[in-house]
Parts: sequence; C-alpha cells; structure tokens
Amino acid sequence: MMKTPRIAARSPAVAMIDACWAASVFTLFPAMFPGPLGQSLAGEGLRQGRWSLSIHDIRDHGLGRHRAVDDTPAGGGPGMVIRADVLAASLDASIATDDPRPRLLMSPRGRPLTQSRVRALAQGPGAVLICGRFEGFDERVITARGLEEVSIGDYILSGGEIASLVVLDACVRLLPGVMGKEASGEDESFERGLLEYPHYTRPREWEGRTIPEVLLSGDHARIRAWREAEALRITRERRPDLLETARKD
Ligand code: SAH
Repeated sequence: MMKTPRIAARSPAVAMIDACWAASVFTLFPAMFPGPLGQSLAGEGLRQGRWSLSIHDIRDHGLGRHRAVDDTPAGGGPGMVIRADVLAASLDASIATDDPRPRLLMSPRGRPLTQSRVRALAQGPGAVLICGRFEGFDERVITARGLEEVSIGDYILSGGEIASLVVLDACVRLLPGVMGKEASGEDESFERGLLEYPHYTRPREWEGRTIPEVLLSGDHARIRAWREAEALRITRERRPDLLETARKD
C-alpha cells in the first residue's frame, strides 16, 4: 500500500474537529460531567475532538439571591418542580433557535431509548440533553421549547444526569474513530433485532469447562451457523418480544 502523505492524513481530522458531534448538557449538577465519559475510549475521543461536550449549569439562570430554580407543584402534592422560565432562560442563552440538534429531555415518561434511535442520533450533528431533578420540569417549557422526552428504561432515577450519560455513551461509541471495529455493530445485541451469541476465549479448558468444539474447528460457515442458532435461542429464551418486533418489521 502507498504511504499517505502526512498533510493529507491530517486534513480530514481537522475537518472532523470543526464539525464534530456536539453534545450540550443542561444540569443542576455540572460536576457530574464528563464523569465516566472522560475515561477510556469515550474520553480519548473527547480529547481528540471526535466529539465535544459543553455543560450548562441551569442554576446560572436561577432567580434571586438564592438562584432558585424550582417551586412547589401547582395543585399541591409532594416534591418540587423546576420552573419553565428558568430552564427556558438557560436554554435560550446557549442554544440558537436554528440549532439543528434534537433537544432531549431525560424523563421516565419519554419514549424508551433504542439502539436504532442511538444510531440515528450518532449520525446527526449531536444532541442537547436536559437533565431533570426533583419532580421534573413545568410542562409548559417542554412544549414551548420543543423538548422531546426520552427514557432510558422503566424505573425512576434520582436525576437525569446518569440518563444523559447513558444516551451519550451509546452515541459516542458509534462515532467514527472512537472505538475500533468492535463498534461496527453488525453482530452486537439489538443491531439485528437479536441478542448476541456467547463468546469464549483462552484458556481452552477452564474449571473443567471447554469451549464449544465448533468454535475451534476453523470452519467459518459452521461457526456462523452456530452463532446464528445461539443468538436465536438466547433471544427466544430471554427476550421473545424482540422476535415479535423483528417479525412485524
Ligand atoms: N416525577 C417524575 C420522576 C422524576 S425523577 C415522574 O414520575 O415521571 C427526576 C429526574 O430524573 C427526571 O426529571 C428525569 O430527568 C430523570 N429520570 C428519572 N428516571 C428516568 C428515566 N427512567 N429515564 C430518563 N430520565 C429519568
């Protein structure tokens, strides 16, 4: 293969930095970021400019001497609600009205995140992620600023920060150059509507347990067929709902 001249090797990287996948996070706990995403491959990708992260403290737009962001729920009931005017002021100060990125509000009421949504997000320009606390946000800001509620699963977290780290981690690993070919994805759970087949590595025998003979056979057609059958078996056992969805599609 011909050696690529240095300058040519470098210019696409520069272009990528200009237009890198951009995340903007709105939170009451800015110190929680980048958190785990500053480590490992996501962290290296961040340092290399393959994606960017800007953190906005919602409290910067809080009201009064105490920078209040929340108030008691209209109609009564427990907990506190984050004010519409405070979140709107925070968003408006940093996100242009023509910003093409989806504005995702972390919320257990949202549409559950799926791998296909993650893939679509990763292919786009980035995302604005808004993290709730307490009982969540005044409904009016959700409508007025076109926020899309996204859930990471049917359970309640204490805040949206971990949820947005989940969304970001899932997206960032798919960005070009962040992971090696592992993230190419074709074989991974969910990518084909199936859970993944089991993996093995050395040693060949461990605590009296061996590796399925077919995987040591070198016969790639047989290996592929075995993996396919195992993926189907595991999906049928654990997540029959995925097979239902795949059939409908
Ligand atoms: N009262 C709300 C829950 C508030 S939990 C309700 O019953 O729907 C506080 C914050 O944590 C939420 O505003 C949201 O930002 C975040 N959060 C909690 N569970 C979540 C989930 N499953 N997915 C995404 N975000 C979640």
